[in-house]
Amino acid sequence: MPEPAPTVGRIVHYVSHGTPLRSDGSQAFSPACRAAVVTEVDAGDPGRVGLAVLNPTGQFFHPLSNGGSVLFESGSQVPGSWHWPERA
Ligand SMILES: [Zn+2]
Repeated sequence: MPEPAPTVGRIVHYVSHGTPLRSDGSQAFSPACRAAVVTEVDAGDPGRVGLAVLNPTGQFFHPLSNGGSVLFESGSQVPGSWHWPERA
């Protein structure tokens, strides 16, 4: 893992899934980076974390007991994954 291991309370990005695909393949809302607080870290796989995701209009909890979220490199934008916030 090239960046620091996540710890409880750190703020990361969660990549949202966006809205369902339309018949033409487009989406009303495409995947986006959302602020999220790390709530749990998998002891056996520190790249897998539980998150409290802070969407602009609501919160979403993604616990380890529900699969957690897996680290992907910044910029990969894989829906359902997390990464450290990009630098401006
Ligand atoms: Zn991001």
